[in-house]
Amino acid sequence: MSGHSHFDTTVLLSSSLEERREEFCDYLRSARHRLEQFAARHGWEYLTDKTFVDSWEVFDEKPEFDRRLLGLLELPGDTSLPATFSAALERRVLLTVSPELYLKNYPQGDESEAYSRLICHEMAHRLHIRILDGNEEAMGPVWFYEGFALFVAGQFANAFQPMPVDDLRKLFAEEARGDYRRYAAAFRQLAGMVDSLADLLSWPAKPDFMHRITSLVSEEHCSDDMARFPAPGKNVD
Ligand SMILES: [Zn+2]
Repeated sequence: MSGHSHFDTTVLLSSSLEERREEFCDYLRSARHRLEQFAARHGWEYLTDKTFVDSWEVFDEKPEFDRRLLGLLELPGDTSLPATFSAALERRVLLTVSPELYLKNYPQGDESEAYSRLICHEMAHRLHIRILDGNEEAMGPVWFYEGFALFVAGQFANAFQPMPVDDLRKLFAEEARGDYRRYAAAFRQLAGMVDSLADLLSWPAKPDFMHRITSLVSEEHCSDDMARFPAPGKNVD
């Protein structure tokens, strides 16, 4: 089929989407480009030399997407997946719902290049694992590794607002999967406080991970206070 030969990923579209094949190839290209640019900025370009995806399947029906994903994960077919769950990358197979279905099921995700960012996000999880030499256990809690993938993909970056320290602390204590927009904000904030992102990504494997995170956030808090209340004598003229 046309547009196939220069592409090393097999793209399988639901028949209703077939006529939009070029558009989907563009999404994939732009997702890859975004990932590679990010990796290059942080000295990780050697980790994006090899691709992350052999084939990509796009579904125009959510139940079909769910069935396929559960099959890929070897989970019982009646396992329920969240309605907002729209993409996954498992065993080098990328699965997504259509762009229209994505925004219908997750209207909060509406932003420029939302769909290629979604694809980039899935690849970012795989990049994360490569950065950790394959140690998935070291990816950290859900807010941390989702925050990283959201950061790589630049999702919700335009809506970014720093979170108050108390809100950050609350988020760090959450165990259930929560609002991705808060994960994006929290991770972006942390990334802005450290000198090296590679160093930050190594923290979850350390025994004092949460201590490091909370001290980082508290230090920032203190220096804010000091800026607001300069040491006595400073302004005396
Ligand atoms: Zn994710």
